[in-house]
This record gives sequence, C-alpha cells and structure tokens, in this order.
Amino acid sequence: MPLNQPLEAVRRRIAFAARNAHRDPQTITLLAVSKTFPAQNVAQLAALGQIAFGENYVQEAVDKITALRPDWPALQWHFIGPLQSNKTRDVATQFDWVHSIDRLKLAQRLSAQRSPGLPPLQVCIQVNVDGEATKSGVAPEDAGAMAAAVAALPNLRLRGLMCIPEPRTDIAAQRAPFARLRLLRDAIAAEHGLTLDTLSMGMSADLEAAVLEGATIVRVGSAIFGRRSAPQR
Ligand SMILES: *Cc1c(COP(=O)(O)O)cnc(C)c1O
Repeated sequence: MPLNQPLEAVRRRIAFAARNAHRDPQTITLLAVSKTFPAQNVAQLAALGQIAFGENYVQEAVDKITALRPDWPALQWHFIGPLQSNKTRDVATQFDWVHSIDRLKLAQRLSAQRSPGLPPLQVCIQVNVDGEATKSGVAPEDAGAMAAAVAALPNLRLRGLMCIPEPRTDIAAQRAPFARLRLLRDAIAAEHGLTLDTLSMGMSADLEAAVLEGATIVRVGSAIFGRRSAPQR
C-alpha cells in the first residue's frame, strides 16, 4: 500500500495543530513508528523525506537497521518500547535515541555500552503520568532524582520526558496528562538546572492534544502504516 497519502495526512494534522497552538510546525518532529512493519515500508517513507523511525522490539529493529543502513545511512532510529537490561547492548550501539528510560540501571548500562566514538545516545525518561499499575515509567515524584542521575552519566544526553497516557477520546481529557508532563519537565529543569528541550508525547489518536500541550516529538504508527496485525501493546 502506498504510504504517501497517510504520511501527508499526518503531516497536515501536525501542522494544523501547531497553527492552533501558535507554534512553528518545524519545532515538532514526526517519529514514524515502524514496529511490526517491514524494512521496505521504512524505505518507502525514507524516500518521501521521513527521517526518524521508532521501534519497540530490539531484534526486529536491529534486523531493519542493518538492512537499511547501506542505502539510508542518515535515518534516525529511536527505541521507544520497554527495554530489558540484558538487551541494552544492541540498543546502545545501533540507536540514536531511547525514549523509554524507566530505571537508572538501564541508563547506566546504556552509558557504559555506548561507544565514546559515537555521538551521545539521546535519551528521555518515561513517566507514568496516569499512575497505572500496569504501565511502565517512573512515578512523577521520582522523575526529578532520576533525571539528575541520568544527566550525570557519560555517553548519554538527557533530552526530556516521554509518556504514554491511557487512551481517552475527549480532547480536553487527552490534554490533561500531556499538560502534567510539560509542567513536570519545566519543574525538573528549573530545580536541577537542566536543559530539557524534548517532550515525547502524542500518538495516532491524540497527537493534536499533545501538540497543543507542547510536544516536540509525536510518535505515530497506525495513522501512517495502517493497523498492526498483532496486538502489540
Ligand atoms: C506503538 C507505539 C506508538 C504508536 O502508536 P499508534 O497508536 O499506532 O500511533 C507510539 N509510542 C509507543 C511507545 C508505542 O509503543
């Protein structure tokens, strides 16, 4: 299936929301979440100018990155899923970003395994904004201490915060957890003297709400690639 129309539609949604928020659309990065979709789909989007891709599963991602790197060396790879400690090495060596730091040990391992010859791994701390027992992410009250500790590690660069709120349909309800993440980011940056320029929030169903609340990276899968065949979340 050609992906140019869904990609264009998502770009328009972002631009429209940005205009409503009096924001420059250029300050919002579209991360195309390609998990479960084959390398050919990524290549098709790359040919349309899409640069940043998000993946959730280490082995699947490494296979895709390896297949695509010769033809598309400038693509940016973002790891956005739950990460087991024993799988950090491939992420530290193959990816540009990790959005899902939810414990210090993960950051320490990624820092130790990132080659100092590579640019620092760009990282976000995932915050459990809804306090759901089943979702990963640090509790909001613990995010500041974690941010300070992560920011002190070599070979990583802490960029900001990420969240995956529980699905809501009403836009006002969608905005509330995104606003909380933004305020938390502002508070942590001020308290710890950190520059945190990134809010990774918003997916296919709620990207407008996220852009209105200051998202700098929206992570969009199904609105671009179509439905994933296996339920992945
Ligand atoms: C799968 C996934 C997305 C994309 O979700 P869609 O609803 O398909 O846009 C975004 N972020 C994370 C962390 C994901 O796992």
